[in-house]
Amino acid sequence: MSIEVLCNVDNCKYWAKGDKCVADKISVIGLQGRKADDMEETACKTFEHDE
Ligand code: SF4
Repeated sequence: MSIEVLCNVDNCKYWAKGDKCVADKISVIGLQGRKADDMEETACKTFEHDE
C-alpha cells in the first residue's frame, strides 16, 4: 500500500508541483530521539537540497 505524501518544502529534489513528494519512500525521524511532543520535534530525513 502506498500513501500520498504532501510537502511544501519546494527546494527539496523530491518536491513536485502541487506540493507532492515524489520520493519512493521517506524516512521521518524524531529530533530528540524516538519520541516527540510536537511536530517541531520531527523531521524528514529523506530531504535533499535541489541544485
Ligand atoms: S523528501 Fe521529505 S522534504 Fe523532500 S519533498 Fe519529500 S517529504 Fe518533502
